[in-house]
Amino acid sequence: MSAASEVARRRTFAIISHPDAGKTTLTEKLLLYGGAVQLAGSVTARKNQRATTSDWMELEKQRGISVSSTVLQFEYKDCVVNLLDTPGHKDFSEDTYRVLTAVDAAVMVIDAGKGIESQTLKLFEVCRRRGVPIFTFMNKLDRPARPPLDLLDELEKVLGIASCPMNWPLGDGVDFKGVFDRQSNQVHLFERTVGGMFRAPVNVKGIEDESVSNALPPLVYARVCEELELLDGVGAEFSLEKVRRGQITPVFYGSAMNNFGVQMMLDSFLAMAPTPAPRLVGERIVEPDSETFSGFVFKIQANMNPRHRDHVAFIRIVSGCFQRDMSATNTRTGTKMRLGNSQRLFAQERETVNEAWAGDVVGLVGNYGFQIGDTLSDDPNIKYDEMPRFAPECFAYLHNENTAKFKRFRDGLDQLLKEGVAQPFELPDAFVRIPLLGAVGPLQFDVLKYRLESEYSAEVRLEYAPWTIVRWIREKNPEDAPKPVRGQTTKPKPNLAASYDTTLALDAFGNWVALFSDKVSAGYFETKN
Ligand code: GDP
Repeated sequence: MSAASEVARRRTFAIISHPDAGKTTLTEKLLLYGGAVQLAGSVTARKNQRATTSDWMELEKQRGISVSSTVLQFEYKDCVVNLLDTPGHKDFSEDTYRVLTAVDAAVMVIDAGKGIESQTLKLFEVCRRRGVPIFTFMNKLDRPARPPLDLLDELEKVLGIASCPMNWPLGDGVDFKGVFDRQSNQVHLFERTVGGMFRAPVNVKGIEDESVSNALPPLVYARVCEELELLDGVGAEFSLEKVRRGQITPVFYGSAMNNFGVQMMLDSFLAMAPTPAPRLVGERIVEPDSETFSGFVFKIQANMNPRHRDHVAFIRIVSGCFQRDMSATNTRTGTKMRLGNSQRLFAQERETVNEAWAGDVVGLVGNYGFQIGDTLSDDPNIKYDEMPRFAPECFAYLHNENTAKFKRFRDGLDQLLKEGVAQPFELPDAFVRIPLLGAVGPLQFDVLKYRLESEYSAEVRLEYAPWTIVRWIREKNPEDAPKPVRGQTTKPKPNLAASYDTTLALDAFGNWVALFSDKVSAGYFETKN
């Protein structure tokens, strides 16, 4: 197959949702369609039988969360589908954001009984900033749900995105009888199956069909007919172009647990979702089907197998063809390397990858010295700038509690910072230099502490710091910036009218930042500077 047709077959996406909306259940059902039935269970297995996973995931077991993410690949119809799993837990982490830099589309799962929840909103914002097309799955229609029109209204009001319902629910809760497919003008009647283990049987009929009106309680039928009429006036006009630009979200109602409406969504999604996109390097556009191989590291995970101290770098391929044993250069360092141990990770299963194309993700196992965001290519001029900088919302000092183990503490911390588990900051005015770390969610600190202790036998203590807001400081006129003084190790302080509660710090790249404990002081500082 040619490069162009390999690229055209690929769809790479993530599912975003608030915890408990049904992401895991939907993932499992999607895998059924990919013919990966025997593997589908492994997603649930990951949730329920965490004892079997590698040791450092003990933390996940204790807290019932998924810290690490995996990449699932399956073939369905003519497509190769790459589903990148975003860690879904109450606390937020940068890991989740980074996964979203590697996808071309997202499916947003909403619990139709609850509507948009806090994390849905956060993840949506990240996707929107990157212009990622979003497909909405309104889940749990078999439970009492909010009126379907209200849910659309909420998308518009809370997320500010226009929606286009692709299907429409016939009732909800015990009255949930199926969906009306607005594209084909057909009704899919829903029959409950035990536990929703198999593909839900569906009958296809028009809305006027007697069997449809007989299946629904009269009031529900009347309401649905009214809603459908209304809908022609309220929903946004469908436009594939707007969907692909992330301006309209196609909406599907269904029930993941009962496997109802899932195939309809998958089929429409694959038809509408974009193929792997070209990416920009400065002025140059790198096409996915070009001859040049390129990709970027969006996730690094060390010690997945604690006995081997292995590292896995996850590479999203942007262009060209990846082949096992090929050579490529880390364009940040200029180091050329042979990519020998390439793997595809399926939950805990690993399988060697011999060939992969744009849109695919390969895990490179071994110590290649990667940093998050590094580009790997056979063209040294390609450097992707895909990793956004995240503004931490919480800070903590990390104390080494055992001086005899300082080296382990330092080595472990260096490695984990390379993986981006947290962001390091430095307080130049501090009397004792204790590492100050920033994160978007406190869970990142717990992961850091846990891993330092279990993987590096360090003894550490976290001390939470009061700041919640960080602002990067840029001089308005670079000429006014204070000049470095010879012999001075740190950068000179910026000229600022700082208020008493402003703390200045340096980020990992030596840039000045100001830390604040609340919005008021941050706002005051901004008006002064
Ligand atoms: P996640 O945290 O987003 O991965 O959510 P899960 O997939 O684990 O689902 C959370 C809970 O909701 C589980 O108990 C599921 O069985 C349940 N659930 C998921 N989909 C549905 C659905 O369509 N209907 C109902 N009634 N329950 C569902």
